[in-house]
Amino acid sequence: MTQIEVTFLGTTAGIPTKYRNHASIHLLYRSEQESQFLFDCGEGTQRQIFSVGLNFMRINEIFISHWHADHFAGLLGLMETMNLEKRQKALTIFGPEAERFVDALLNLGYASKNFSIIAKDVPFEGTEIATLFDNPEFSIVSVPAKHGIPAASYAFVEKDRIKIDKEKIKKLGLPPQGPIYRKIKEEGHVAFKGKTITLDDIAFAEKGKKVVYSGDTMVTKNMIKLAEHADLLIHDSTFFEEDVFDKEYKHTTFEDVLRIAEEAKVKQVILTHISRRYQNVEVMKDKIKDYPNAKIAKDFMKVVVD
Ligand SMILES: [Zn+2]
Repeated sequence: MTQIEVTFLGTTAGIPTKYRNHASIHLLYRSEQESQFLFDCGEGTQRQIFSVGLNFMRINEIFISHWHADHFAGLLGLMETMNLEKRQKALTIFGPEAERFVDALLNLGYASKNFSIIAKDVPFEGTEIATLFDNPEFSIVSVPAKHGIPAASYAFVEKDRIKIDKEKIKKLGLPPQGPIYRKIKEEGHVAFKGKTITLDDIAFAEKGKKVVYSGDTMVTKNMIKLAEHADLLIHDSTFFEEDVFDKEYKHTTFEDVLRIAEEAKVKQVILTHISRRYQNVEVMKDKIKDYPNAKIAKDFMKVVVD
């Protein structure tokens, strides 16, 4: 059984408040091993990581949605602390134009680094879903977002897992375990006591889990495609529709996020990147009262998908 644990390290928009730090989301994937990722790294993210008891040294990949300071200003301090803690393992930072901005960050100040920092550019134009990170258990993908500057949205996508049905193998008289299961998974069939047993005879596919993070974005078709059937969608929800007077508004409203969640048929949606003008949680809750699968993010909130 695998599990994804998401911790909200920062949930404000633009300006921090007493209760909300700048944007950052930690994702922990548990299978036989643990993998940890950070999505955005606003100012103060390392203190948020300490406060919640996570180990930032286990983070090897950071995904930046765009290069507005409220989403990346924590990188410098976090990298500095990793260095002071004698990190040796490489750290990879993904983002639109990551090479340019990571290079600029590394040229600020006199910090020495005893570990390598790799920057990887993420596509920010078009409609393609790009695979950024891939292993046999899961991948991390992106699509271009729409925010007036290069921006991307990300998804953690667990691969479907082939499970052996214990009842079925018992009925067929197959052993409870052994090398034949590896063979049948690899080749699709196996000969057993003169009969051919196919994978379909004894196995079923367990659907992989999906967690999607929008970063800052206006409503796009890309997001609906990326979020399709997600177990959890974490989405920019800076304002209520009635408060948007600015034509230059480059975010998504509460109301839009709820519509996106419905259209993409997501199981759960969490509204984040909340403007400081909304201090009263009850007013926010009222906005989502007709949506049992929607929640308002708060700092240090943990959500488990299993
Ligand atoms: Zn922002």
